[in-house]
Amino acid sequence: MHSELWIEEKFQDFLGLKIKVDRVLFSGKSEFQTVDVVETRGHGRMLLNDGLIMVTERDEFAYHDMISHVPLFVHPQPKNVLVIGGGDGGTAREVLRHSGVEKCTMVEIDGMVVDACKEFIPQTACELENPRLNLIIGDGVKFVKETDEKFDVIIVDSTDPIGPAAPLFGPEFYQDVFNCLTDDGIVVSQGESSWYAMDIQQSLLRVLNDVFPQCFLYNFSNLTYPGGLWSFTFASKKYHPLQDFKDERVHNSGIEFDYYNCAVHKAAFSLPNFARKGLAGLIANG
Ligand code: SAM
Repeated sequence: MHSELWIEEKFQDFLGLKIKVDRVLFSGKSEFQTVDVVETRGHGRMLLNDGLIMVTERDEFAYHDMISHVPLFVHPQPKNVLVIGGGDGGTAREVLRHSGVEKCTMVEIDGMVVDACKEFIPQTACELENPRLNLIIGDGVKFVKETDEKFDVIIVDSTDPIGPAAPLFGPEFYQDVFNCLTDDGIVVSQGESSWYAMDIQQSLLRVLNDVFPQCFLYNFSNLTYPGGLWSFTFASKKYHPLQDFKDERVHNSGIEFDYYNCAVHKAAFSLPNFARKGLAGLIANG
C-alpha cells in the first residue's frame, strides 16, 4: 500500500488548507521562490509559490474574471494594459479577450513560474504567445519606475506582500503606477482578505489614498485562498466603478464569462459591515 500525498498550505500560524495530490508535475527553486505544479484530486492542476496556492484549474476563473473585467469594463476604451506579476497567464488571457485592447504588457519577475505554467497549466498560460502580449521577465517595481509608456489600466496580480512582492504594496510603487497611468487610468490590485488580512488591506488602501482621488475595495468568492472571501482594490484617477459602468458594454462585448456578469460587478462593491467598519475612511464604497 503506498502512502497518500497531501499538500497543506499553512496560513499564519493557526490555519491550514489540505488538498489531496495525485501527482507532482514540477518542482523547482528559482532565485525568488519555490515553484511547484501538482495534479490534485479535486481542483485540477495547481500552482504553488513558496508553498502558497496561486491558482487551481477549478476556481482560477473567478479570480481572473474579477481582476480583469471589472476595470476593463469601467474604463470606456482600454487600449494599453499593464499586468504586474500574473506569471500563470490567467490575467493576461482575460485581458486579451477584450478586442479593443491593442497591447497588454505583462511584467513577471520569475521566468520559472511562466515556463512551468506554459508546460503544465495551459488552461491559464494559453495566451502567453499572443502577438498582442509583450511579456517581460523582470521586476514590476523597476518597470513602472523606468517606463515612458502610459497605460489605461494597470493590474497588479501579485503574491502576498513577502519577498519581491513586498514593494508592490508600498507608497513608492503606487506613486510610479500613478505616473505611468493615463489621465483617466485605473489600477486594480490583489487585495487580500478582510477575514484574515484586514491589516494588509488597511495599509494598502492608506497607500492608495495618498496617491489616488478615489479608492474602493471589491470582493469575490474563491475556493482556495484562506477565508474564501477575497478582494481587489480599485483606485482611479477619474472613473467610478459603479457610476461609470454601463451594462451594454458587457453585453456588446460578446464575451462569455464563467463568473463575471453585470450583477456580480455591482454586487462585488457591496461590502459586509465588518469590512465597512474596518476600512472606514479608506474606501469610497464603505
Ligand atoms: N493569483 C495569485 C495569488 O494572489 O495568489 C497571484 C498569482 S501570480 C502567480 C503572482 C506572481 O507575482 C508570482 O508569479 C510572482 O513571481 C510575481 N511577482 C512577485 N513580485 C513581483 C515583482 N516585484 N514584479 C513582478 N512580478 C512579481
